[in-house]
Amino acid sequence: MVLNALRNLRARHTSHLLHAAKAPRAADGEVLLDTVGLTKSYAGADGELPVLGGIDLKVRAGEVVALLGKSGSGKSTLLRCLAGLVPASSGTISYRDEPLTGANPGTAMVFQTFALLPWLTVQQNVELGLEARGVPADDRADAARQAIDLIGLDGFESAYPKELSGGMRQRVGFARALVVEPDVLMMDEPFSALDVLTAENLRGELMELWESGQFPTRAIVLVTHNIEEAVLMADRIVVLGSRPYGTIRETFEVGLERPRDRNAPAFEDLIDRVYRVMTGRAKETLPQALHSVRAGGTSLPGRPDGVGLDKRTTANTPLPLASVDGLSGLAEMVAHRDGRCDLADLADDLGLAVDDMLPLVDALELLGFAKISDDDLLLTEAGTAYAGADVQQSKTIFAEAAMGAPLVRLITTSLRQNPDGTLRAGFFRDVLAHHYTSEQVAQQLETATDWGRYAELYAYDADPQEYRLDNGLAAPATQS
Ligand code: ADP
Ligand code: MG
Repeated sequence: MVLNALRNLRARHTSHLLHAAKAPRAADGEVLLDTVGLTKSYAGADGELPVLGGIDLKVRAGEVVALLGKSGSGKSTLLRCLAGLVPASSGTISYRDEPLTGANPGTAMVFQTFALLPWLTVQQNVELGLEARGVPADDRADAARQAIDLIGLDGFESAYPKELSGGMRQRVGFARALVVEPDVLMMDEPFSALDVLTAENLRGELMELWESGQFPTRAIVLVTHNIEEAVLMADRIVVLGSRPYGTIRETFEVGLERPRDRNAPAFEDLIDRVYRVMTGRAKETLPQALHSVRAGGTSLPGRPDGVGLDKRTTANTPLPLASVDGLSGLAEMVAHRDGRCDLADLADDLGLAVDDMLPLVDALELLGFAKISDDDLLLTEAGTAYAGADVQQSKTIFAEAAMGAPLVRLITTSLRQNPDGTLRAGFFRDVLAHHYTSEQVAQQLETATDWGRYAELYAYDADPQEYRLDNGLAAPATQS
């Protein structure tokens, strides 16, 4: 499909419209985006919430850069800063040597959720980007048709978004970004809302286009939390560390031939190295600038992701999005291997992508059930007891461990302080909204509900959206 589109494109020979007003095409290696000492904080309920600390990053013509990190590490924030959609708190961001003062004229963005206007056709949705840039109507229509061809949507011009599959909708998202022929195509987890096969297909086509030299952009910045995706697509992988704040933990030059072979030893080796850095097992030294940002000069954690137990808050220690079933399954699996096993091997045996295991591993660590040592996951004493316990015992052990997870503790203690032992979910949603996006808030509460229910700490009624202390516990349930 793509090759057809390319042929059409060449036949028409029209990459004509938008270059007139633009700077000359950047030569390979020219620095397009440049940040120096970029920091970003958001105003929160308890003061400034630092999200990015001291980012130095260059994006050059001819390269695909992946920004890789766990959820909350500031990837989207960094991308938005580069696109000029949010201002930096300090430091500079420039595009082709010009400091940014507003939206970056050299970038266009593809989002995870497709953000299409449902009342507009594919053609009209694609033209939107051009309208905003003041391109005359005839030129808009031509350019949109080209972009639609290029991305394999030929024939769908007059369709409405609701008639399209997720994959086709995301193609519209790509077309809408590509139509403005940005120097840098920015993508924020563009494949993560698609099913596995659709995502794989679209990734492949996109890279084929990129390689073909027909791609109308000079660089790609891809935000992802998926290690394999980063290694598959990028020339350079920039790993962001999540806590205390987003900083560049390490940069990897990929240097593998395209198209890339997932089974090649070099591919697997790089996955392992990146994985090690993602899970925080490589040493990280914090830049000096961050020391002053940290509230009250509290001591720095030994491991970037390990906030000391007494310093944990719902803001600095989000619940890993792992179900009790999942994390218990992993604990048992490790117990069967004498309480210790290599993570990458285990993922392989289970047929899981290493990424799928991260939240489970994080959850076991947060609960104090496991530790990471070298490349191995190691059950602690509590973890071994948990894995070997019967149902009732394991609930008791889990309840105690889960009280070390700030959100579970917050819900439990708030309920205990409330005379009738109930609280609306909205209360916790408001508390969390200071630190998380609404989607993240929903995910945090969903996980806290799963954990708290299993631990029999509290129950949740979806109808009045209310938490209440579990009757089995010391709830003064009959007093009100
Ligand atoms: P990622 O994309 O890596 O998941 P984000 O950049 O979305 O990370 O978020 C990083 C941190 O910044 C999170 O703790 C998030 O809650 C916070 N954050 C993001 N956007 C805002 C905002 N507009 N206001 C306040 N906090 C925000
Ligand atoms: Mg994000």
